[in-house]
Amino acid sequence: MQNICVYCASSSQVKEEYSQAAEKLGRLLVAAGMQLVYGGGKRGLMGKIADSMLADGGKVTGIMPRFMTEVEWNHTGITEMILVNSMHERKEKMALMADAVVALPGGCGTLEELLEVITWKRLGIFSKPIIICNVDGYFDPLIEMLNKSVDENFMREEHRLMWQVTNTPEEVMEALKNPMKWDENARNFAAL
Ligand code: AMP
Repeated sequence: MQNICVYCASSSQVKEEYSQAAEKLGRLLVAAGMQLVYGGGKRGLMGKIADSMLADGGKVTGIMPRFMTEVEWNHTGITEMILVNSMHERKEKMALMADAVVALPGGCGTLEELLEVITWKRLGIFSKPIIICNVDGYFDPLIEMLNKSVDENFMREEHRLMWQVTNTPEEVMEALKNPMKWDENARNFAAL
């Protein structure tokens, strides 16, 4: 595991526990010799995780559509910034660069990124670990919804293995060290 892609909030108005989790995860990633790939933002949990890693000498790569830099959402102090033309290009590049993805609490952008990689995993076009960091139960309704979609046969039992739920940054690190295996031939059982 080298490049860890983290999806997380652009909002700075969230409760302290979420910011602390982002900072803690950043420090743990650097301590484990891992690098961050993220949306390149300077605000919110994105800014927190990037800053905590940079403070400890870690490498941070941001991937951002050009239009976001025009409104100055970009973090100007990160190791590397890759500018792209669209949100779709950004998400594809983030997923390609990642050895694993982690979702910290966030809004529609985070939820969309997380659900997109889960969808790609079902279709066999993405096979890396997907780890949800359910800080303070933030993702409980989403996890319930995903489980409901399996319970009601919108997905198969096997599809529950596409994501791994953790509660703390420490548990995220454990999950990164012992990732759940995903069948490379997932497309063969994607439909039901
Ligand atoms: P959200 O969870 O809605 O705040 O969106 C955060 C996610 O969407 C991040 O992982 C980014 O990839 C992207 N994103 C949304 N808003 C911004 C922003 N202001 N700056 C950078 N990336 C953003």
